[in-house]
Amino acid sequence: MDLTCEQLRPADDGYDAARTGWNLAVEHRPSLVVYPESVEDVVAAVEYARAEKLPVGVLNTGHGLVRPFADGVLIRLERLADVTVDPGGRTAIVGAGATWQHVLDACAPHGLAALSAFSSDVGAVGYTLGGGIGWLMRKYGACSDSVLSATVVLADGEVVTARIGDELFEAVCGGGGNFGVVTSVHMGLYDVDSVFAGGTYYPASRAPEVIAAYREWCASVPPEVTSALALVRFPASPKLPEPLRGADVVAFRACHTDGVAGVWELETMRTLGGELIDTFEVLPYSRIGEVAMGSRQPQARASYGALLVDLPDPLDVPALLDTDAPYLMVELRHVEGGNRPARPAGLGLWDAAYAVFSIAPTPSEEAAAEVGEYYRRLHGELGVCRSKSNTVNYLGTENIGDGAVRGCYTAEHFDRLTHAKSRFDPENVFCTNHNIAPGGTTRRSSV
Ligand SMILES: Cc1cc2nc3c(=O)[nH]c(=O)nc-3n(C[C@H](O)[C@H](O)[C@H](O)COP(=O)(O)OP(=O)(O)OC[C@H]3O[C@@H](n4cnc5c(N)ncnc54)[C@H](O)[C@@H]3O)c2cc1C
Repeated sequence: MDLTCEQLRPADDGYDAARTGWNLAVEHRPSLVVYPESVEDVVAAVEYARAEKLPVGVLNTGHGLVRPFADGVLIRLERLADVTVDPGGRTAIVGAGATWQHVLDACAPHGLAALSAFSSDVGAVGYTLGGGIGWLMRKYGACSDSVLSATVVLADGEVVTARIGDELFEAVCGGGGNFGVVTSVHMGLYDVDSVFAGGTYYPASRAPEVIAAYREWCASVPPEVTSALALVRFPASPKLPEPLRGADVVAFRACHTDGVAGVWELETMRTLGGELIDTFEVLPYSRIGEVAMGSRQPQARASYGALLVDLPDPLDVPALLDTDAPYLMVELRHVEGGNRPARPAGLGLWDAAYAVFSIAPTPSEEAAAEVGEYYRRLHGELGVCRSKSNTVNYLGTENIGDGAVRGCYTAEHFDRLTHAKSRFDPENVFCTNHNIAPGGTTRRSSV
């Protein structure tokens, strides 16, 4: 197949924008960037890379950029952003370039929702390939559990549909981008129209009481609630509500799928005293991304993620905020109880009660060094509460060392993924990801 879609090489205008995404700290330097507009264009790009013996990288939003990629073909996915909803069947076909906001906007007119992320700017397919822990996790499980089939362009250019029960299906639902370019995912939708969601922000000085209350409250909270506690240092931005500008805060954030019960079931955590602001309201689920108050600007950032079997007691909050970083977010997301994932995915959730996710900008080398040191301290502070496992989507720039990917899976699951990698991508063409190396020379027969 001929490669006819838009292409950019290092000498071309626009190359720098084409090779970057949301996180500017990780720099791709591909020899070619392509913008496919169809599955055939993706096939042509993969075949071109194969003929030239080049590796293939995939980039959608850049929220998952943790490893640099050089000298290969970078496939940008944003022009494959179609979302087709089947309201009767309560499913959607989600194109590889769609963000969660695209998906939620397409589902909302039908009173339906997908199992989206805490941030709606994240790529829906990239998130799903890594399992996907989001605002409806405790009610409906991980997003990869809602997948019905996936269309995949394999390393040899063949287009296949991976269905439940196939080896490839299990591999892509949790194994990340290791097995091919997933051009679309067919996923189940849920009857979630409006939710009771928002955040209650307390001064960081109140953190010990807020954390103690949260631990107790989480012990009996129903599956309709997915919540988090975030330590945030806000920048002094005029775009923020006045009490949050330049403030160190501890925020209780939650989403309750029942707009009525939510009001009284979240009351305890919203009325601990000394609240700076409270943003809770009944809102359409399509607006859930507003709760995170995240930044959309491409910027250099460091990130860190871990799973916890419990919250450290006590959690040394002054130590956690003892840094010169101008913005910082350390969020503890409650993932215990509720409806557990039905299928194994890259979630590592077998003993976790909380997932920690943290982001900090690193605008200079000094800032990067400071933030790196900060994450080493955070890692230590979480100490014995850290689970031995992790979830693949939370492997950030600061915790992708040796064995990190392996640690997201049980030994048996990892063996199956290694087998699938050997079968579908024996030459490791798709290597710009949380990489699973091929484990043998198994030949591909049928999917
Ligand atoms: C601010 C922020 C919030 C987040 N919130 C959550 C959250 O709530 N829950 C959660 O589980 N995770 C969360 N994540 C992690 C996020 O889900 C992963 O980083 C995910 O990989 C991002 O996908 P993307 O397409 O947006 O990113 P990209 O950086 O564009 O892609 C990341 C990688 O995913 C793979 N990939 C993406 N799309 C495809 C495809 N179509 N085919 C093959 N491979 C593909 C590639 O290996 C690519 O390198 C968050 C990350 C950030 C930075």
